[in-house]
Amino acid sequence: SVSLLYKSKKLVPSTSKPAEATPAPSQSLNNRIGLIKGDITLLAVDAIVNAANNSLLGGGGVDGAIHRAAGRNLYLECRKLDGCDTGSAKITNAYELPCKKVIHAVGPIYNDRDVEKSEEDLAGCYTTSLQLAVENDCKTIAFSALSTGVYGYPSDDAAPVAIQAVKEFLEGEDGEKLEKVIFCTFTAKDVDAYNDWLPKFFPAT
Ligand code: ADP
Repeated sequence: SVSLLYKSKKLVPSTSKPAEATPAPSQSLNNRIGLIKGDITLLAVDAIVNAANNSLLGGGGVDGAIHRAAGRNLYLECRKLDGCDTGSAKITNAYELPCKKVIHAVGPIYNDRDVEKSEEDLAGCYTTSLQLAVENDCKTIAFSALSTGVYGYPSDDAAPVAIQAVKEFLEGEDGEKLEKVIFCTFTAKDVDAYNDWLPKFFPAT
C-alpha cells in the first residue's frame, strides 16, 4: 500500500500558526513536496514521470510496469514520437492508468568519469518534465527515481540533483502552477536518500 512517508514525518511543521499569518515562502514550498514509497502506476495524479529509454518503446523496471498497466495504446502512441534524447522528456496520454498523462523522461546511464554530464542530464529530465506538466495543465506530478535502477545512478547522488531541480522550478516563474510534486519510489535506498536530502533543501521553518 502507498504511504506518505515524508510529509507526515517532517515536512509539515507541528507548531500551529495564527490564522491570519501568511506562510513563509519556504513553508509554502514544503507543502507542495511529497515522498511516496509505492507503485507509481497506482497514483491518480495528473502526471507520472516514467524512467524511459531513448527508444520510448518500453523496457524493464518502472518503464515495463507503466507500459503493462497503461496497455498497448501507450506503446502505439510512443511509436509515433520518434524517441527522445537523454536528458529530455516527452508527454503522452495515460490510457488505462489512473493518472491523466505520462511524461517519459530519459535519464542518463550514470558515468562516474563524467559526473557533471550525468548531473546535467538528470537535472534536464526533471526540469523538462515539470515544464511539460505545466504546458499540459498538470498541477500534480509524481516522479519515479530516474536513472537509479538499471542506469546505475547512485541514489544518494541522484536525490539532491532531483530535489534541487524541482526546488528551482517551484521558485521560478511557472512554479506556482504546480500544486504538488511527489517523489515516488519502490526502493528503500531511494527512500533513504530522499529522507536524508529533502530536509536540506526544504527545511522545516
Ligand atoms: P532506470 O533505467 O532509469 O535506472 P529503473 O526502472 O531501472 O530506471 O529504476 C528506476 C527506479 O524505479 C528504481 O528505483 C526502481 O526501483 C523504481 N521502480 C521500479 N518499478 C517501480 C514502480 N512500479 N513504481 C515506482 N518505482 C518503481
